Amino acid sequence: MKFTDLNPKREIGAHSLLIELGEFRLLVDGGMSPKDVGLSSLPDYTRIPSDSIDLILLTHCHLDHIGSLPCVHRSQPSARVLMTPASGEILPVMLQNSYTVMLRQRDEKNVEEYPLFSRPEVDAVLGDFFPMHFGRMREFVKNGDRLKITFFPAGHVMGAAAVLLEHRNKKYFFTGDILFRRQHTLNGAQIPSMKVDVLITETTRGLAEHSENFLYEDELARLLESVAKAIKGGGSCLLPVFALGRMQEVIALIYEGRKRGILPSGFPIYCSGLGLAVVDVFEKIMRDRKKYGIDYAAQDPIAPPVRQDLRHKMAPSADKWGFRKRILSALNVRPLPRNRIKAGVDIRRPSLFIVSSGMLVENTPAYQVAASLLPFSHNLIAFTGYCDPDTPGGHLLALSPGDSFTFAALEFVTAIGAHVEHYDASGHADREDLLYMARAMEPSSVVLSHGDDDARHWFENTLKLALPQARVVNPEPQRTYEF
Ligand SMILES: [Zn+2]
Ligand SMILES: [Zn+2]
Repeated sequence: MKFTDLNPKREIGAHSLLIELGEFRLLVDGGMSPKDVGLSSLPDYTRIPSDSIDLILLTHCHLDHIGSLPCVHRSQPSARVLMTPASGEILPVMLQNSYTVMLRQRDEKNVEEYPLFSRPEVDAVLGDFFPMHFGRMREFVKNGDRLKITFFPAGHVMGAAAVLLEHRNKKYFFTGDILFRRQHTLNGAQIPSMKVDVLITETTRGLAEHSENFLYEDELARLLESVAKAIKGGGSCLLPVFALGRMQEVIALIYEGRKRGILPSGFPIYCSGLGLAVVDVFEKIMRDRKKYGIDYAAQDPIAPPVRQDLRHKMAPSADKWGFRKRILSALNVRPLPRNRIKAGVDIRRPSLFIVSSGMLVENTPAYQVAASLLPFSHNLIAFTGYCDPDTPGGHLLALSPGDSFTFAALEFVTAIGAHVEHYDASGHADREDLLYMARAMEPSSVVLSHGDDDARHWFENTLKLALPQARVVNPEPQRTYEF
């Protein structure tokens, strides 16, 4: 296998891998970096000759994995686009929204090249959609060469897949973004026990260290208590989230918190439009869960020792996992009134905002709400997921109370008055879980991807000790490696 990471930077950003296997040329994901704008947010597609890709494999619908898909797809007319049926529903919602955001940014930020793709180009991607059901192997043949592909549930978000390629008696396994732990709205990864030759693993949480007695349940309970305290004290709360996955997960948590009396009732809850549109898609999938095959369970799954799952205290009462629209009506969730939110002007009535972006990227609803809440000490801004250190969210988390914070896009500077907190409720596997998986798969090579530099280094060093026989590669961007 020839492997090239097309992401121009060693970070999460614009995830896209070029894979050459015998007669086949594949792309795994076609992402876009959320913190860059214009052409610099794209993977380096220039080295891909037109009409040379046979298959584009999409692991899931976060923009760092699909954001630039229409751009690469337009020059690859023969490529089929493989993804799960659930991802096939979510993808157009995410890309159409991305198109709208680019149109707005063209004016706001003066980015001439925006939008990078058109609405018909999104439809064209769907025209080449090849559905991959979990656990169902599909075989592709080209010039007599054979390639077997199987998708497995990766947890993380609805529709997310890890991918197994089998070619000439060798196995190549891509984790994609993966989470073994159960969430409120989604079961954990279901990867059958197997040995592979090459493991390509994400490394998002290489720097996340937990004490021995860390429990996710406790972390979520602390978050609910903190929200309750702020609301009861007359303040408002902002929980910045990704619109796909994290937002529904946090809403489900708030729902449980209210049902159990941890949270008071009566305060309004606001969500951003994309997250609500995603809920409509989730509802469609949940109503027909058999058709979408989302309940696949591996017979003998790789199961890292669970720190804690949500089965006990905070688990939703439903026996099947998933997010249902009725939770929104039960909580009376409303769309965010963006024009009523002003920088430096406090919200009069205690309110809860569950809005994107999760990293407070400029000009997003979360960025706007943060500019309203941050100056005032009765308010709370609580992050629950990964924040790139180079984003406004990352900057804010690195500062202390009283420090000054600049909302550059709003030309607004304020001292930090609100409580700014971080709770670990990540949608990515703990590093120990990935290590467990790597040991179980006994690969002869491990390739690191989807992580910041320091996070990759932890994996590089630890994997070399854990798998002394294996070749561990932290690939340089745009360089081709052979396995
Ligand atoms: Zn993701
Ligand atoms: Zn990702």
